[in-house]
Amino acid sequence: YQAKRDRTGVEVYESKRDSNTPDRLGLLGDLRRALDAHEVELHYQPKVRFDGQVAGLEALVRWVHPERGKVPPDEFIAIAESSGLMPHLTEYVLETALGQVARWRAQGLQVPVAVNVSPRDVHTPGFAGAVAARLARHGVPAGALQLEITEHVLLEDPQRAADTLAGLTGHGVKMSLDDFGTGYSSLVHLRRLPVSELKIDRSFVARLAVDAEDAEIVRCTVDLAHSLGLLVVAEGVEDDETWERLRDLRCDAVQGWLVAAAMPAEEATAWLRARGARGWQRPAAALPAVA
Ligand code: C2E
Ligand code: MG
Ligand code: MG
Ligand code: MG
Repeated sequence: YQAKRDRTGVEVYESKRDSNTPDRLGLLGDLRRALDAHEVELHYQPKVRFDGQVAGLEALVRWVHPERGKVPPDEFIAIAESSGLMPHLTEYVLETALGQVARWRAQGLQVPVAVNVSPRDVHTPGFAGAVAARLARHGVPAGALQLEITEHVLLEDPQRAADTLAGLTGHGVKMSLDDFGTGYSSLVHLRRLPVSELKIDRSFVARLAVDAEDAEIVRCTVDLAHSLGLLVVAEGVEDDETWERLRDLRCDAVQGWLVAAAMPAEEATAWLRARGARGWQRPAAALPAVA
């Protein structure tokens, strides 16, 4: 069996790391069919700035298996990644997300969308050109697309990864460094990756208000990112207190259940319309101040 250590040094069993079990092979075949049948959906989660402005929406895949019910993304993404299906899944996600961006733009909703891409994608020859062609086909400007990558893209053939990322930014696509703090969090990586945004992983944000060490890690990460000219987004913000601490630490934007969970496209459209004019406001902050 395989185990990994979590941040507290505790070993956690991870069933998803056992490859090629019959269960896994079954899911892989089902995922292939689900993509062809358009059973995989995208949900959209807002990233909002502290002034309430909507900075963008992150597209997150959702798969409801006809018999098993909801399959967690982490699980089927690991399967897609290790089986060679990942490029197909990413094409599907990009195609769906860009179609949605084009529809929103046609309705006057000009909001950038972020798509998660895996190391496998970045190492697929011609990936940058394929993304540019897809943008053109949908009539969507490159600035309306953001790609979220992790430091893992640099583990294998860093030169090719760097070339692909340079190609993407050359086309005007914005890159964001996801889950920062969980990987190597290497300064060399930060310098090497042409990203304009850094996302602090939820595991540091969740206990920010109660754990002084996590607060210090977040403070240092925000300062480091700013000194490199990057915007900082905190993920997994669930309560007011965390929101306030992040604002005080000069974080730029937040994402999390406090603002909204990932929503199906129609619900995200309604959310965007309701917030479009005024920007998002915290429920408490929206109440009139009592003197
Ligand atoms: P991620 O990119 O770091 O996405 C954030 C995850 O945190 C999402 O989980 C989201 O639903 C969850 N989340 C957001 N706000 C909160 C909150 O306030 N509290 C808590 N506890 N969780 C929150 P999800 O959707 O299960 O996705 C898990 C991971 O799967 C993502 O992590 C991303 O790495 C990957 N993923 C999702 N969609 C795609 C995709 O289309 N392509 C690829 N390659 N990876 C994807
Ligand atoms: Mg992400
Ligand atoms: Mg993330
Ligand atoms: Mg994360």
